[in-house]
Amino acid sequence: MHERGMLIVLSGPSGVGKGTVRQAMLDGNYRDFQYSISMTTRQMRPGEVDGVDYYFRTKAQFEHEIATGGMLEYAKYVENYYGTPLKYVNETLDAGRDVLLEIEVNGAMQVRKKCPNGVFIFLTPPDLSELRHRLKGRGTDDDVTIDKRIRKAASEITMMENYDYAVVNDKVDLAVKRIERIIESEHLRVPRVIDRYKGMLASADLAR
Ligand code: 5GP
Repeated sequence: MHERGMLIVLSGPSGVGKGTVRQAMLDGNYRDFQYSISMTTRQMRPGEVDGVDYYFRTKAQFEHEIATGGMLEYAKYVENYYGTPLKYVNETLDAGRDVLLEIEVNGAMQVRKKCPNGVFIFLTPPDLSELRHRLKGRGTDDDVTIDKRIRKAASEITMMENYDYAVVNDKVDLAVKRIERIIESEHLRVPRVIDRYKGMLASADLAR
């Protein structure tokens, strides 16, 4: 019998660099987790690949998944659906592997309710002007959309109190190191390991 994997939820305001941090984690040395690819109805950006960056689906397809209970969580964000397919997460956790979700804050709160044993990490920008700078630098959104995202980010930062950890994304490699340390420490928490030790004691021959 192996232990169930741990669900790691990386969230935070749009443009804070969640995607970059997630990619750096996938490219890094610590690869003891599986990334859950999200489903979305938004347009594919140049360079993105269906089934790698997202599962790109139509609104009708997405709504069918919702209706048939196929989503662990979902949110409508800047006019598009984004969500986490449930089956992959369950199967991977059952197989004893950790699963990483990189999702926005409303979705993260749905997961918090359904999976209270998960680890909830809030990625924060050093400040809001830095966030605007990054969104502009990315060059994928027009000014109106950027303003919308900044206003949303300001209200999202107050949601930090619903998380277990706050990680500043001042430098990607530092943020990744902080997250890796969180994951390692979380694996050592007594509630996560106590059953294993109880099992060991129950099967040990102590009569010597
Ligand atoms: P983008 O369009 O820039 O790829 O993503 C927009 C926002 O959607 C980001 O904040 C990203 O973290 C979030 N997002 C990506 N996948 C999911 C998901 O499966 N569920 C939720 N709730 N948000 C997601």
